[in-house]
Amino acid sequence: MIVRAIGLAMFLALLTASAKAAPGASVVVLDPGHDQYANLATEPIGPGSSTRKIKDGGGTRGVVTGLPEADLNLRVALRVRRLLRKAGIRVVMTRTATEGKSIGNVARARIANGAGAALFLRIHADGSTDHGARGTHTLYPALHRGWTDDVYAASKRAAAIVQAEEVRALGFPDRGLQERSDYTGFNWSNVPVILVEVGYMTNPTEDRLLATAAYQRRAAVGLCRGTLRVLGRAVAVCG
Ligand SMILES: [Zn+2]
Repeated sequence: MIVRAIGLAMFLALLTASAKAAPGASVVVLDPGHDQYANLATEPIGPGSSTRKIKDGGGTRGVVTGLPEADLNLRVALRVRRLLRKAGIRVVMTRTATEGKSIGNVARARIANGAGAALFLRIHADGSTDHGARGTHTLYPALHRGWTDDVYAASKRAAAIVQAEEVRALGFPDRGLQERSDYTGFNWSNVPVILVEVGYMTNPTEDRLLATAAYQRRAAVGLCRGTLRVLGRAVAVCG
């Protein structure tokens, strides 16, 4: 009887423990896009796909400041990490330095999958041959059976929430949301995933602003607030 009671107690304790340790309950994976060098090797755009894309074209750079996108992405991501940690979130980074060749997007998705991320937040800035193009937009995976059907709804919801907070924080034009079927890092992700293009480094105004610590902080605050709202947490800690 006692043994049975203990057995039941242990069973209940295990149930509670497994509920608390639900996959990705409070783990966020931050992915500062690109790295010091492009990686022109190719990889399949999704599991089992015969369509391949280069691993990493290398990103853009500031048209006025010359700041490489990889550096901006990392500066913002490190600030987001600091803010999320203050909120008690466990943060995993796909990279913490800008040095060497990009690992590519399958590898980045695998880091997020391995961490069981509640959100895989990919941080980028955009570039265009049209230097008048400006504003913030957020991308999320298009629905593809077997690849993204398990993360589509949660990703779309997260994209809308984070986009709204990022636009509010930066004050750049709202370019809205965009579904993408051709992003390797989306198609390989088994966890909710979004990619925020915080602004356009090819637009002189946004380049100058994004190169400042003040705007990198704004970008991080918006991403922190958006992420915590996605997780159903209080956002005041973000500032
Ligand atoms: Zn990029």
